[in-house]
Amino acid sequence: MTKRVVLIGHPVAHSLSGAMQQAAFDARGIDARYDLWDRATMEFPDAIEEIRSDDFLGANVTIPHKERVVPLLDRLTEEAQATGAVNTLTREGRRLVGHNTDVPGFAAALDRLVGRSKMPRQAVVLGAGGGARAVVYGLIRVGFQRIVVFNRHLHRAEGLVKHFAKSAAHMDLRAMPWHESIIESELAKAKVLINATSIGLNGDATPVPGEILGRDLRVLDLIYSRTRLLRDAEAAGCTAHDGETMLLHQGAAAFTLWTGQAAPLDVMSDALASARAQGLRSAEGEPVGDDQSPVTDG
Ligand code: NDP
Repeated sequence: MTKRVVLIGHPVAHSLSGAMQQAAFDARGIDARYDLWDRATMEFPDAIEEIRSDDFLGANVTIPHKERVVPLLDRLTEEAQATGAVNTLTREGRRLVGHNTDVPGFAAALDRLVGRSKMPRQAVVLGAGGGARAVVYGLIRVGFQRIVVFNRHLHRAEGLVKHFAKSAAHMDLRAMPWHESIIESELAKAKVLINATSIGLNGDATPVPGEILGRDLRVLDLIYSRTRLLRDAEAAGCTAHDGETMLLHQGAAAFTLWTGQAAPLDVMSDALASARAQGLRSAEGEPVGDDQSPVTDG
């Protein structure tokens, strides 16, 4: 019988994850179908209950449910526990296990951003949602010594910092209010800037003006498109990458959890590229348009 995997979010229309995962199942000869479930908050708990049946290999969870899903599960892996956010579910009989494959996804993106250079120690993170939690956890794990988190609603950044208090006890992790002058002064000390807000997802807004980006900065935008932030960063001489590597590697890790098999990365990467060429958007809501080609090194 064909097994099922679903992506639960709101909205999820035209998901890039669907194209990427279906291509991987097909390439590995796995009889499984990846569907999109658009479920608003009220319908979300019932959707999670449905996944417990034998028909399902598991699921992905995306905006806005990554934190909300946590209390509905039976067990969390260390990474899900540490971040307080879940993007992948697997089944153990009728029990549901929550994983966070954004963590290995971000680790792959950070490695690519840093390249052969020594891992930097100071970062500025914009945003404090589910994505930012995977980012901050990943930065702490590779030894960053100072991470400053800016968020529109300061209390959410403060909540994030509190969540990581124990794992960040040895270093300087702090939340700061979103003021351009404060961001500018922190960027002057940092080597890495991560945009984990959804600013730039739709339209051409940017979280910080290009003039405050120094040329030594490495900039990663989790959004999978050529955002204004990335264009400004390139113009300033920075190394600048979009969210493609993170999207691909979080998907690959999820595929392995569901199937027990190594993910066919080339197939998944090609499927992402062709889905995007056809104007599809990812579950994370990347915008479409003519000027959305992936950004490589700046
Ligand atoms: P959340 O909804 O959990 O968080 C959204 C974040 O964006 C919050 O920090 C929010 O601030 C901020 N934000 C939204 N709108 C504005 C605005 N107009 N002005 C200032 N801040 C704003 O989403 P996620 O953390 O899951 O995702 C965030 C981004 O990261 C998305 O663009 C998503 O596409 C991307 N992402 C990419 C992944 C990948 O694999 N490439 C994986 C995960 C995420 P506030 O708290 O104040 O509302």
